[in-house]
Amino acid sequence: MNKIDFRSDTVTWPTATMRDAMRLAEVGDDVYGEDPTVNELQALAANTLGKEAGLFVASGSQGNLVSLLAAAGRGDEAIVGEANHTYNWEAGGMAVLGGIVPRVLAVDEIGRMSLAQIRAAIRPDDAHLPTSRLILLENTAGGCYGAAIPLDYFAAVREIADEHGLHVHLDGARLFNAATKLGVPARDITQYVDSVTFCLSKGLCAPVGSVVCGSAEFIHAAHRARKLVGGGMRQAGIVAAAGIVALEEMTERLHKDHANAARLAAGLAQIDGIKVEPVHTNMVFFTLHDDVTLNADAIAQQLREQHNIWIGARSARAFRAVTHYWVDEEAVDLLLKGLEQILSEPAAVNHEQQVGYYG
Ligand SMILES: *Cc1c(COP(=O)(O)O)cnc(C)c1O
Repeated sequence: MNKIDFRSDTVTWPTATMRDAMRLAEVGDDVYGEDPTVNELQALAANTLGKEAGLFVASGSQGNLVSLLAAAGRGDEAIVGEANHTYNWEAGGMAVLGGIVPRVLAVDEIGRMSLAQIRAAIRPDDAHLPTSRLILLENTAGGCYGAAIPLDYFAAVREIADEHGLHVHLDGARLFNAATKLGVPARDITQYVDSVTFCLSKGLCAPVGSVVCGSAEFIHAAHRARKLVGGGMRQAGIVAAAGIVALEEMTERLHKDHANAARLAAGLAQIDGIKVEPVHTNMVFFTLHDDVTLNADAIAQQLREQHNIWIGARSARAFRAVTHYWVDEEAVDLLLKGLEQILSEPAAVNHEQQVGYYG
């Protein structure tokens, strides 16, 4: 039996259609701009998101990094939410490679910085101060239970950015989950931002890659930045082919993952010893009651060893389970059954806790 993996939607294998497309992909040297499959993917992505141009990159982190390098320079400031991936989980790339100063603001329960705080964070023109240049948004908000931030917030941030000539970049690693949740085409979200990165390699199941989209001028600069960070990939059409399938076939089915997440949450709420957080899209966060003697890592280990089910232990008492193409209703029910069984026979000993990051 294949393992059932709820740690992240990054664990998704390519579909059979993707593997066929990869095998048959026409390729060329993409550093010369000659890979027809990469060019097709970039045009498709840009068209889907209502932007002039696209750039295929190795990962979401690389997409965010080259976007920030293209939009800002040394001593420029980026206004960013405290829970955002660009600030927390990308090795400080904006500061390390861009000399960009993060201006970190608090976020609410679905990942929004307050508009008043954004306004207050924008610097006047003064030689003592960093130069405000960027506002960084994220949708869905991975650090806030995968919440989808509604369109009106994007419209309001756009207005502020226009008043002050700021660039708005969206980390849309799970953009299509957000669009699905909001019930709108993704371009309705991206119309409010200057640039966007989205991941092909998460819920869309492609093996590798993300795409950055923006104006032709912006993508020209991002392309230079991609070279700078060693991101030129030659016959990348082999992987871009799977990305085309991801955009054509996988964006319209994400509601199934959201339904499975809701099913999982409803089941967890019925299990003694578990408290489940609000579910927004494809992520389910839950914690153990104080009276449960096992810690999260020990439970995750038992699920692996006894049931071949993998989930992420986020701390000694907290888990994250992410639904995706390769976990169906039956897998959800197996996870629920496994947890119920383990929690009904608690062992006495707490094990050493290992905390992981699963993307
Ligand atoms: C996964 C993710 C990224 C990028 O991740 P990579 O592993 O570099 O592809 C960026 N932002 C968010 C919110 C993510 O969830």
